[in-house]
Amino acid sequence: MRFVDSHLHLDGPDATDTVAWAKSAGVAVFGCGTDERNSKSLLILAHGLDGTVFPFVGVHPSEAEKSEGLSWLPEAAKEAAGIGEIGLDPTYSPAGEGSPQMRAFRGQLEVAEKWGKPVQVHSRSAEAKCLEVLGQSRVKRVLMHRLESEEAVPKAMERGYFVSFGPALLYSRRVQRAAMKSLPELTLLETDSPVPYAPLGGAKGPALVPSVAFRLAELRGAPFGETLEGCSNNALRFLGGGKG
Ligand SMILES: [Zn+2]
Repeated sequence: MRFVDSHLHLDGPDATDTVAWAKSAGVAVFGCGTDERNSKSLLILAHGLDGTVFPFVGVHPSEAEKSEGLSWLPEAAKEAAGIGEIGLDPTYSPAGEGSPQMRAFRGQLEVAEKWGKPVQVHSRSAEAKCLEVLGQSRVKRVLMHRLESEEAVPKAMERGYFVSFGPALLYSRRVQRAAMKSLPELTLLETDSPVPYAPLGGAKGPALVPSVAFRLAELRGAPFGETLEGCSNNALRFLGGGKG
C-alpha cells in the first residue's frame, strides 16, 4: 500500500529502521530538520532515496534561541524538498516580535520565498500569529502541521494552506473536531515520528498513517481507500508535483 507520511523526524535511533521500512513498503516520508546539524544530516541521508525520503531543512522554534543564524540555509534549501520545521511556539521561549523565534521564522520564510519552496509550519499555541506572519510572506505552499484547533483550520483553508493530522485523530475529540473543518483536498496525514502516542500503547512511526486515514474516512463518511489516496496526492501537490 503506497501512502505518504507528510511530517516526521529522522534523527533518532529509529531513523534507519524507519527509512528501511518505508523503502520496502513503497511509502514516502517527508523528513523535517530541527536545526542546522540535523538538517544537513537529513540531506545526506536522503541521497539515493529519491521517492522515499523528501528532506525539509530548517530551524524549529524550540531551537531558535540556540541557533547561530541562517547563513547555511539557502545552500541547504536548494537541495531540499522544502523548508521545515519552522514556526512559532511560546512554550519553548518568547515568540513575539524581535524574538529569536520570530527572526528565525521570518528569515526562513524569506528563503522559502526566494527558492520557491514549500514550508512545514509548527504553530502550537501561536496559530493566529503564525497565520499573520505567513500572510505577510509570498510563500504559497504551506503545510500547517498538527493544526488541532477548530477555529484555526477554516482560516488555513481560506488561504489554501494544507493541514495535516496524525495519530491523535484516533482518540482526541479536539483533533477530530478540527479535522472535520478541513477540506478533503487540503488534508494530509502524518505521524511526527518518532513521537510515541501513549493512548495507543506507545505506538509510533509511519505505519500508523493508514489507521489515521481510516478514522478520517469514518468521520467524513468517505471510503477508506479514496481518503488515503487523496491525502497522499495532496501531499505530492504540496511538494509541487502530483495530480492537480
Ligand atoms: Zn515535528
